[in-house]
Amino acid sequence: MEINKIGEVRSKYKEPVGPDEMRKSKSIIEVEAEYVDGLDQIENYEYLQILFYFHKSEGYDLIAKRRKGPERGLFTSRSPRRPTPIGITTVELLKREDNKLHVYGLDAVDGTPVLDIKPYASFMDHPTLSLEKKTPRYQINKLIKYQNLHDLLLKAGELHGHYCPFLALGVLAAADAMTRLDADNDGMEDLLAVVETNGCFSDGVQYTAGTTFGNNSLIYRDFGKTAVTFVKRGDSLETLRYYLKDSNFVEQKYPEAAKLFKKVIAERKGTKKEQEKMKELWQEIAFEIIEADIKEYFKIEENIEIELPDYAPIFEDQNCSKCGENLMASKAVQKVDEVLCRNCAESKYYQLDGSGIIEK
Ligand SMILES: [Zn+2]
Ligand SMILES: [Zn+2]
Repeated sequence: MEINKIGEVRSKYKEPVGPDEMRKSKSIIEVEAEYVDGLDQIENYEYLQILFYFHKSEGYDLIAKRRKGPERGLFTSRSPRRPTPIGITTVELLKREDNKLHVYGLDAVDGTPVLDIKPYASFMDHPTLSLEKKTPRYQINKLIKYQNLHDLLLKAGELHGHYCPFLALGVLAAADAMTRLDADNDGMEDLLAVVETNGCFSDGVQYTAGTTFGNNSLIYRDFGKTAVTFVKRGDSLETLRYYLKDSNFVEQKYPEAAKLFKKVIAERKGTKKEQEKMKELWQEIAFEIIEADIKEYFKIEENIEIELPDYAPIFEDQNCSKCGENLMASKAVQKVDEVLCRNCAESKYYQLDGSGIIEK
């Protein structure tokens, strides 16, 4: 067996300081001259996997203490103390300068020998892909099961576009409900969320519980309260309602953020810098809330009575006599000799927008 060193790490860290801390910094991988041609077109990859040698590590224990939690087997850990002390980390490639790769996220100290570089591709390196095709919520369910709310919030941000306190509260409530109701969701209306706000909170609920606008398992009650009732249909209905006890908590606990919110969002008067600062604070608060005890924020009621619609009916389609567009028959306006869509008939309709449900 022959293993070659193809380069070396340049980092501000001369000694290990813990992987989380190190992963937050940039470092450089200097590739040796004889291997530089192998970097051809590497710029096309956003992420790389770096294999490196833990040159400062000595010996190993097969059962080892972890930084958090009880002891367990070496091969269930990422400890550097191993029979073959090789590390592997996925990094973000920031830029390439000749033989230098500027990367973000490498947890290796200065002078670490690099053994290999490979492109990271989620479709190749993601071991659960076939499972996900069968159960699309595989990853989300796993995060809920292991109570990894931090990562759930991270993912919910993909749907919501930013991190904010109320998104975090939605994730917190929904993850708690999914656990207590022992619920999964295949988007077939067996699990419903009845939300009482059209604010950020509802996106945390939609992402985490999978009760969405499009799969008819999100029911919206135009009450303007930060509250949600989860309903699991079965032989009987199981319900859980979460109501935010104190909607002024941001003003009280985070006055700086509340002040900025007023200026930047409510009055739309913030400078670019203030907008950035607000986003930063909002994100910090969101990730703080997600670690909180749910009872600190919510009043939780079990088995409440709730009036529910039946499973969503499937209607036949019709075509508008005027514009020809296809529409649900139940939404058509029937005239004596024609069928019109609401737009062509210029009839009233309802719209859900930032103001709630309004009649137009
Ligand atoms: Zn938000
Ligand atoms: Zn029409």
